[in-house]
Amino acid sequence: CEYANIAEVTDTHLNHGHPCFSTSGHGKNGRIHLAVAPECNISCNYCVRKFDCANESRPGVTSKVITPDEAIETVLKAKASVIGSKLKVVGIAGPGDPLANEATFETLRKVKENFPEMILCMSTNGLLLPERLPELVDIGVSHITVTINTLDEKVGAKIYSHVRWQGKTLKGNNGARILIRNQLLGLEQASKAGMTVKVNTVVIPGVNEKLLYSLALDVKKRGAHLHNLLPLIPQGKLAHKMAPPMELIKNYRSVLSSVLPQMTHCQQCRADAIGLV
Ligand code: SF4
Ligand code: SF4
Repeated sequence: CEYANIAEVTDTHLNHGHPCFSTSGHGKNGRIHLAVAPECNISCNYCVRKFDCANESRPGVTSKVITPDEAIETVLKAKASVIGSKLKVVGIAGPGDPLANEATFETLRKVKENFPEMILCMSTNGLLLPERLPELVDIGVSHITVTINTLDEKVGAKIYSHVRWQGKTLKGNNGARILIRNQLLGLEQASKAGMTVKVNTVVIPGVNEKLLYSLALDVKKRGAHLHNLLPLIPQGKLAHKMAPPMELIKNYRSVLSSVLPQMTHCQQCRADAIGLV
C-alpha cells in the first residue's frame, strides 16, 4: 500500500528535536517565534491580526513587530533565560505571511550566523513558496509548515477574500486557483529539497470538512510528512461560524492518521511565542 511507510517517514523526518514536528518528544524542547513579518499577500476570512494584545494566544497575535536586529537580541535573551538550554528551534510565523516580508530572510540569515546550532523553521500560506524556496534552502531552513485548507478552488473562494499575485488582486476562484497551485508546487519542491514539511489545515465547519481525506492523500503524495488539523477560531468574516468541537477534530485525526502522522499537541501559538511546546 502506498501509505504503508508512515513509520519510516516518522523515523526519517520527525522526532529529531523540533517539538512541533514530533509525535512523541514534545514537552521537552522549546521554540521561539520572532515576529518580524507583519505583511500578508492573501486575506483569509478567519484572520484577525493584532499587535497589542498581550493576553491573547492565537496565531497572528504579537505584542509588537520587531526588526531583524531586535530579533537577534530576543534570541540572545531567551537563550540566557531559565529555559534557554531547551530552546532548539527559531521560527518565523507572522503575524503576517513570512515569505511576504524581506525581514524574514534577513532575520533567518542572522540567526543562522549567530546561532548555527538552532533548527530554523517557518510557516507560510504557500503563495510565494515556489519562488522563494531556493533562498530558504540556501539559508538552511529545515522545517516548513504550509497552511492548505482546501484543494478545491470553489471552496477556496469561500475561505480567501483575495490573493495578491504579481501586482494584481485576484478574488473568488481565480485567487484560490493560483494559491492552491503554488501551495502544492511549493510543498512538493520543499519536500524534494529535503525539508521536513508539515501541512496545517484549519477545519471550517460546513466549508472544507468534506474534502479533508482527499486533501490528506494529495499532500502525502506530494511529500508532506505531518498533518496538523486545527479547529477554526471563529473571528473576522467567519465570526458567525461555530468552532468545531474537539471531539470532531479527534475523529478526523483518527481517520486521517491512516494517511499521515497527525500532530495532536498544537497550541495555536502567538507570532511571538517563547517556551516549551
Ligand atoms: Fe492571516 Fe495568515 Fe491568512 Fe495571511 S495567511 S491572512 S496572516 S491567516
Ligand atoms: Fe508548534 Fe503549533 Fe505552536 Fe506552531 S502553533 S509553534 S506548530 S505548537
